[in-house]
Amino acid sequence: MSPKERKKRERKDFAPHIAAEKAPPCNVEGCTQPGVYKAPKSREQIDEYEWFCLDHIRERNQKWDFFSGMKSEEIEAFIHDSVTGHRPTWSRESRLRENSLHSALQDKLYEFLHGSKPVKPATPRLPAKMRNALAVMDMTHPYTLKQLKSTYRVLVKKHHPDTNKGNKESEEKFKQVAVAYKYLLEQIKDEE
Ligand SMILES: [Zn+2]
Repeated sequence: MSPKERKKRERKDFAPHIAAEKAPPCNVEGCTQPGVYKAPKSREQIDEYEWFCLDHIRERNQKWDFFSGMKSEEIEAFIHDSVTGHRPTWSRESRLRENSLHSALQDKLYEFLHGSKPVKPATPRLPAKMRNALAVMDMTHPYTLKQLKSTYRVLVKKHHPDTNKGNKESEEKFKQVAVAYKYLLEQIKDEE
């Protein structure tokens, strides 16, 4: 590869971790390239690094089981994001989140590269209607259909007019539970 080609390629790829002049030689025997990319020695030795050239860190990334299940482009993109100090955008993250394994690996990787857990955005505020309905049912979000149904059964039994004859408070609660249940049921059915 000509120096010009290499330069072009490196621009396209993720930024080196240290300058080539300061880099130790690539850890791969026989390789004469500077080891400008660092990689933890193993899952157990995440504070100890080995240094590799671009080609060899790629090869390593492809092999390393820490990243198992991730595509090598994803690993590179992630390392790039970590090294440059940018969290991956949430849209990219949410795409990865479709696969919870990817997400878990990302978090793990972020944690050891940065020494702290990634900060998750706060759960978006629930609509008032949802909050009210959950409060009536004494439930929290997220909930499952099973939880909703069993909570409903308990509350209906507790506040049923037949067992609370003439009790206005129970009568009111009974109505509220019915409304809340209907609403929460619709919400969860929309999600499924
Ligand atoms: Zn190398």
